Amino acid sequence: MIFRQLFDATSGTYTYLLASRRGGEALIIDPVLEKVDRYLALIRDLDLRLVKAVDTHLHADHITGLGALRDSTQCITVMGEQSQVDVVSMRLSDGDRLRIEGLDLEAIYTPGHTDDSYCFRMADRVFTGDTLLIRGTGRTDFQNGCPRAQYDSIFNRLLRLPEETLVFPAHDNKGDTVSTIGEERRSNPRLQIRSVEEYEALMNGLNLSNPKMMDVAVPANMRQGLAQAEIARLGWAITAEEALALVGQPDIVLIDLREKAERLKHPGIAGALPAPYGDLAENIQEGGLVHDLVAATGRRLVFYCAFGERSAMAVRAARQAGLGNAFHIHGGLDAWNRLGASTAH
Ligand code: FE
Repeated sequence: MIFRQLFDATSGTYTYLLASRRGGEALIIDPVLEKVDRYLALIRDLDLRLVKAVDTHLHADHITGLGALRDSTQCITVMGEQSQVDVVSMRLSDGDRLRIEGLDLEAIYTPGHTDDSYCFRMADRVFTGDTLLIRGTGRTDFQNGCPRAQYDSIFNRLLRLPEETLVFPAHDNKGDTVSTIGEERRSNPRLQIRSVEEYEALMNGLNLSNPKMMDVAVPANMRQGLAQAEIARLGWAITAEEALALVGQPDIVLIDLREKAERLKHPGIAGALPAPYGDLAENIQEGGLVHDLVAATGRRLVFYCAFGERSAMAVRAARQAGLGNAFHIHGGLDAWNRLGASTAH
């Protein structure tokens, strides 16, 4: 496995780059905007292909690199379903799996630091975001933070993991890089309390000043969606309403770009052909599944995904690959489902 812990000294943020092999798919957790060029250089050096960029929560102390990485690599952006971010490619909920080639992380919903905080567990380690820090815990006094929720997330979720589980947090300002669940249970001063009330009193008494970057970082981090409006201006988008009229017509090939787990959890549009975004490059080449369905026949290609992000990138890629009759559903299945909700009554 390739595992890199990268540090941004300005915000004290740890960013993690993961891959199962050289030359394979990579995942990045909590990237910092100012460090994106460095991540891209490392990804090139290791001959990796970045396919997913994930934030553990909406950060207040730095601007996320999610959008910039997506624009450079066409990777999928991922956050929790509770996040106030405008648009990401994929949203997770508790228990969902975050998968790339050879790696499988479990999403654990751990509200408290914020109401959109997630931890990600992978084999012998857990990425704890700002929920559990080394000898500390994330503050709970803004972004819908809640000491009681954090107590529950730490004591009833994280501390139930095996003692030897490695803890990799999103921040450290002391120079520590890794801990374990057992070590934090025994030695983390914030966890040496007897009740949720005691934890609440401890957290509410911290009187911390706001992060320097907060007024800039939070609004910036809430706007991560790619410009789907640009795709619409180019005439490459159809609305969910327009899609409704097209579905089932013989000259339309409807492609569902979501992953299998997403399709199982949220059924898509009837008659759509599954072709996950991760296989797109292969599928739109000559000889590929999608290419051969439309190239010879002149049928119209309509991509969709969860929120329209992957499909917007897919339209661009398909047109670059010579599939000039490619479109996507603006806003994705989310927009489609809203339409269903509004037309059902
Ligand atoms: Fe945070």
